[in-house]
Amino acid sequence: MKRIGIVGGGQLARMLALAGRPLGLDFLALDPAVNAPAACVARPIVAAFDDTVALAKLADASDVVTYEFENLSAQALEGLARIVTVRPETRSLMISQDRINEKQMFASLGLPTAPYRAVETLADLKTSISVLGCPAILKTRRFGYDGKGQSLIRQEIDADHAWSAVAGCAAKAELVLEGFVPFQYEVSQISCRGIDGAIVHYPLSENVHAAGILRRSIPLAEGMNTSLVVQARQAMERLLVELDHVGVLCIEFFVVGTDLIVNEMAPRVHNSGHWSIDGGGVSQFENHVRAVVGLPLGNPATVRPVAMINLIGAMPPLSELLQIPGVRVHDYDKESRPDRKVGHLNLLADSPSGLRASIEAVADYLPTDSRDAVLRPSIAAW
Ligand code: AMP
Repeated sequence: MKRIGIVGGGQLARMLALAGRPLGLDFLALDPAVNAPAACVARPIVAAFDDTVALAKLADASDVVTYEFENLSAQALEGLARIVTVRPETRSLMISQDRINEKQMFASLGLPTAPYRAVETLADLKTSISVLGCPAILKTRRFGYDGKGQSLIRQEIDADHAWSAVAGCAAKAELVLEGFVPFQYEVSQISCRGIDGAIVHYPLSENVHAAGILRRSIPLAEGMNTSLVVQARQAMERLLVELDHVGVLCIEFFVVGTDLIVNEMAPRVHNSGHWSIDGGGVSQFENHVRAVVGLPLGNPATVRPVAMINLIGAMPPLSELLQIPGVRVHDYDKESRPDRKVGHLNLLADSPSGLRASIEAVADYLPTDSRDAVLRPSIAAW
């Protein structure tokens, strides 16, 4: 039986293990939390992510190591890669850890991004605002997630506030200022590449965020917005090949008119692909574990209308959720906390109107910002 070690024991690790166990694969997950979400399906190693002894223990017990998040120190990762096969390879992870490295990589492949400038001081920020104009978004280069480490600058006088929101009291910090992209929609392309170079593409997913946190994802029905689909797959293939990436890769895009602007990438399974668990094809989680152990990839096609709704803050009552037609509940076993992703729902329907009815039924259980986001019209057109 092959053993997969996962750095991180959160919900992504849990869903990777849940997908791989029926294939006879065994899992370990390293995480500092004692009751991490993956602990019930993957043998836990409780330690800090940069604990070299614990990482060596994970490597020793695993045939291959993968990761569920990007913020592992480069040093820890390189140490790990010296003693065990790490997939995706460390280059994918190191580039995705830094928003500027990522943007340089996209530019080298001819993929357009938002205009940006590196910022290290408040004076740099003020100069950069005058060059890029407003609105703009100040972000940390590293360690940001779910809208954390970001501040929107609507006008020049917001500079000081944005600096202290993102850099705190520090006089110097590694930040990036991005011009605000006036997008109509956000989409993501999730694809998976095997060790033989075979690539499978999931349908393009339409994503709605509020306050920087993903609220709803719907995969586009076959034949919808084909020019966007073609652009997204071309960008993905360039990146997968350049990085010699093995496993799932996600690219998030802004849609401006008929063009795609790259926002960022994630070298791992991604929240905007959670619908794939119930969408009818092989899920992103199963394809990722297949890829990292060298098994053939499966067909990711989604065969019926499906929507993914994130549950943020607290789980609504299970007995009420289960009365919603076509609902599949995924509870991550996490304690309630504001802005925390504690679970998600996949809604399956037989028609676009059935999908809309289920989304409306779910909306009643959501906090206001999520409710408004999930009720937004969709381009997925199921
Ligand atoms: P990120 O962590 O960079 O993915 O940002 C989270 C969310 O903030 C994105 O999904 C967008 O909704 C919004 N956002 C981030 N950067 C920009 C930008 N340059 N222009 C417009 N919206 C943005």
